[in-house]
Amino acid sequence: MGPISNAGKLMAVISHASEPEKSAPEPLLLVQDFVNSLHVHESRPSEEALVDPEALRDWLAERRLMDASEPVSGADLAHALDVREGLRALLLAHNGEPLDRDRVQKLDGVARRVQVHVCFGADAEPELVAESGGVDGALARLLAIVATAAEQGTWQRLKACPRDCCMWAFYDRSKNRSGRWCSMESCGNVEKARAFRERRRAGD
Ligand SMILES: [Zn+2]
Repeated sequence: MGPISNAGKLMAVISHASEPEKSAPEPLLLVQDFVNSLHVHESRPSEEALVDPEALRDWLAERRLMDASEPVSGADLAHALDVREGLRALLLAHNGEPLDRDRVQKLDGVARRVQVHVCFGADAEPELVAESGGVDGALARLLAIVATAAEQGTWQRLKACPRDCCMWAFYDRSKNRSGRWCSMESCGNVEKARAFRERRRAGD
């Protein structure tokens, strides 16, 4: 039993943030994954999936947000990172943290560049569709998902963990939308213990 259960435990710690109950419904999950393409760690260097334009192209193409044959520039990468960090700022605000307006302004700047239009498909239901291809088209698709999710009330449940050394995006399924931590096992318990120590010190 020993080695297997230990391995299982280790996996649970490593992949704490991919708990199914903390995953947003499709297609909002794509936005959650995009924000989590940067994984910040407390005790080791952060994992950045979007290290260069090629990595960005691969990431977006794997998720069918763009065609792998389309060119990707350094400016595209800068736009994508502005969108990602602007979205993270909004997700932190969903969790009650102060809104970083500079980040949202940069996000808005890219949102103005990329074009989205309303399309009535075969089922005559209105749908937001990206106008351009490449990275602009992919970012437009992600932003269209955000706009639709906001209408449906799911966007507000996508939050970022408020610990500076985490900021992982998670979906809050709690009844009254009171979820605060990416996971209780990692950030929740650490923060609780810290708050307890501070209260005790204050009481000394
Ligand atoms: Zn966390």
